[in-house]
Amino acid sequence: MYQKSLSQHDNFLRLVMENIPQFVFWKDINSIYLGCNMNFAKRAGLEHPKEIIGKNDYDLPWAKQDADFYRLVDRRVMDSGKAEVNFEEQQRLSNGKDKWLITSKIPLFGEDNQIVGILGTYEDITHRKEMELVLKNSAEALSESNERLVKLNTQLEQANIDLEHFAYATSHDLQEPLRMIGGFATLLKKRYIDKLDGQALEYIDFITKGVMRMSDLIRDVLSYSRIGPIDEAHQSVNLNEVIISKLADLQPIISQSNTQVHYLLPTHPVKCHSDRLGILFYNLILNGIKFNQSANPLVCIEHEEREHEWLFTVKDNGIGIESQYQDLIFKPFKRLNKRNEFSGSGVGLSICKRIVNLHQGNIWITSNEHGGTNFLFTISKNL
Ligand code: ADP
Repeated sequence: MYQKSLSQHDNFLRLVMENIPQFVFWKDINSIYLGCNMNFAKRAGLEHPKEIIGKNDYDLPWAKQDADFYRLVDRRVMDSGKAEVNFEEQQRLSNGKDKWLITSKIPLFGEDNQIVGILGTYEDITHRKEMELVLKNSAEALSESNERLVKLNTQLEQANIDLEHFAYATSHDLQEPLRMIGGFATLLKKRYIDKLDGQALEYIDFITKGVMRMSDLIRDVLSYSRIGPIDEAHQSVNLNEVIISKLADLQPIISQSNTQVHYLLPTHPVKCHSDRLGILFYNLILNGIKFNQSANPLVCIEHEEREHEWLFTVKDNGIGIESQYQDLIFKPFKRLNKRNEFSGSGVGLSICKRIVNLHQGNIWITSNEHGGTNFLFTISKNL
């Protein structure tokens, strides 16, 4: 009965050893193998665990320096009597493959409390290590490309600033010779009015008009180049005050065109750059008045508060913009009408777009039921 239960017990132990996912081995005091489980036997290139008995690490198919290291740790554990658990080590197999192991070694004590050997177990963590390496490499690659991006971005920002300075400086410098041409054309007309025939005087008028137009263009390029990013924080702005001040500036053209301007703006402050929002509304209202041939010109400004942004709409009952041009006209100098029909340089809307972008928003156009245009733009609430 006792015999039977003992052999049952042995059987069970064998089953455990065969099925345990770890590699298990035990050695005597001289690091000579006394036994192992099936996993270990296979890793050692053996058919059966029994074949391990009497062998040492130099008999097994791993590199000599690995065997040296295993025996060194064996010695340390057995001399100190202290287990070493979960340390990482490597194993180079005879096929040249490197394996990563996480190993524990425990001293085995005999009946008289003397150390008689060592029990070792390990798990193969090569796959995990390879994954870690892949992750580490991709994290490094990511951080490298991130650094590259940051660098490129800085270069781009600098190039932008340089370009703005260049545009500013050249347009500024262009004004001087232009003033000279205009001045001498006027002088020429004044001094030689009796000596010049009608055609010559007409040519001088062309020169003067060209100078004036060029001067307007330069002024607008200058204003465009001034709308760069600003360092100062956005203020809390009462947009009603902004509009009132802009309508005062626009008063002459409003009265002359007999335009009605209605507005309904937030009563509480909005975070934005006050001057720039002023320029934005000014340009959109001016366009609504300018490109308008209705008998009763009308411009309406409305708003909608959304979760993360404000939406503003500037509607007019003007000449409208065909849908195929509704993106194009935000490009600098893009105009849809003949110069003598409506004045302007074609820079206003590109300035508007820049201002909106600097407020982390979008600007776009739709047509309305009066055949006129709706300009819609958003500005972020998280500035
Ligand atoms: P500008 O007014 O100096 O010509 P903008 O950049 O403000 O320049 O406008 C570009 C063009 O877009 C205008 O020349 C005009 O053809 C068209 N446009 C702008 N606003 C309107 C509008 N409210 N209604 C119809 N056309 C418009």
